[in-house]
Amino acid sequence: MAKIRMTTPLVEMDGDEMTRVLWKMIKEILLEPYIELNTEYYDLGLPYRDQTNDQVTVDAANATKKYGVAVKCATITPNAARVEEYKLKEMWKSPNGTIRAILDGTVFRAPILVKGIQPYIPTWTKPITIARHAYGDIYKNVEMQVPAGAKCEIVCTDANGNETRKVIHQFGESGGIIQGVHNVDASITSFARCCFTYALDKKQDLWFAAKDTISKTYDHRFKDIFAEVYETEFKSKFEEAGIEYFYTLIDDAVARVVRSDGGYIWACKNYDGDVMSDMLATAYGSLAMMTSVLVSPDGVFEYEAAHGTVQRHYYKYLKGETTSTNSVATIFAWSGALRKRGEMDGNDELMTFADRLESATIRTIEEGVMTGDLAAMSTLDNVKKVDSETFLREIAARL
Ligand code: NAP
Ligand code: MG
Repeated sequence: MAKIRMTTPLVEMDGDEMTRVLWKMIKEILLEPYIELNTEYYDLGLPYRDQTNDQVTVDAANATKKYGVAVKCATITPNAARVEEYKLKEMWKSPNGTIRAILDGTVFRAPILVKGIQPYIPTWTKPITIARHAYGDIYKNVEMQVPAGAKCEIVCTDANGNETRKVIHQFGESGGIIQGVHNVDASITSFARCCFTYALDKKQDLWFAAKDTISKTYDHRFKDIFAEVYETEFKSKFEEAGIEYFYTLIDDAVARVVRSDGGYIWACKNYDGDVMSDMLATAYGSLAMMTSVLVSPDGVFEYEAAHGTVQRHYYKYLKGETTSTNSVATIFAWSGALRKRGEMDGNDELMTFADRLESATIRTIEEGVMTGDLAAMSTLDNVKKVDSETFLREIAARL
């Protein structure tokens, strides 16, 4: 068979621990036999990040801007224990944080659905994708505990030195707590653009919700910016694609989500996204079946698995024990990136390959062959639990 050619490279970011082991196997077993892989390789594994003083992460992000598509393996975000374990020069920042800051992107998380792994909410037959605004609100707050009798105000001093004041609360016999939060129009606008861009890309409706009836200035600003970006930049494109944008109150959105059958994108403010993405990941069954894509407002895409480096399995692997680590989300990161590369380059063969890789993966699980995490949850009666490598070979056999 002639291998599929790629005219333009995509950015490949290698990572750490068990996912690094899977990464190499996925390429050898599922990709390289079929594709003349054309990637610009960046090693984001912790040893090389340390060696380059994390410059490699910045270079990888800039290359992603240049080529438009990247695929990333899970990476360690160092903490004190990792500094010791890897004898690091510094506690380097989260690579995902660095990449997101450079691309100014929004992260979309979507579950991969297979028959035999039932969501806790059985009506969810289609994926619900969550987009979380990753700037501001309580994540950049200022807060204080204040004594009885305190008068607390918000003071805004504008660029000319003029002050505007508003009383938050005049405390009486009991002291209490206060908090100041902010957001920035530019960040909200860019978040809105990422969400509309992604909805168009997926041809799915976009929902956005806040609490503008209570927060008449703050949350209302979010609602207005979304409406304005929609009206001026996306309305006609949405109509052409036959999809909808709709805004509702956050509590109404939650009620609708639970009753829905899925198949849309749910844009969330920072806190809502933090909470709801964990709820959704659990409700759909497994973090190992959750994909993640970072989309920049100018349409650059970076694909990865939502889970981490699966450290516990890696230590077993290092001791020579067999592991049964789920590679599905990482495979889908590759198929997502290859499909996007194909779409940008008009490479139909590459797009078809991505579809086939995904359906072979799903079929493998639906025919009962799966890793331990899924075997423990499956409702099929012919389940065969296999090790990490056998799972990939079973997919290859179907591919
Ligand atoms: P994790 O790697 O997601 O693993 C947590 C647990 O979830 C595992 O121990 C395993 O449970 C289960 N699990 C996750 N993915 C699995 C898979 N593909 N197959 C089977 N089981 C899976 O999270 P963590 O242990 O909290 O973090 C480990 C490292 O990953 C940390 O250094 C963290 O910084 C990094 N991390 C990176 C990213 C990223 O790059 N996007 C995201 C999150 C965390 P059992 O052990 O019970 O089998
Ligand atoms: Mg959370």
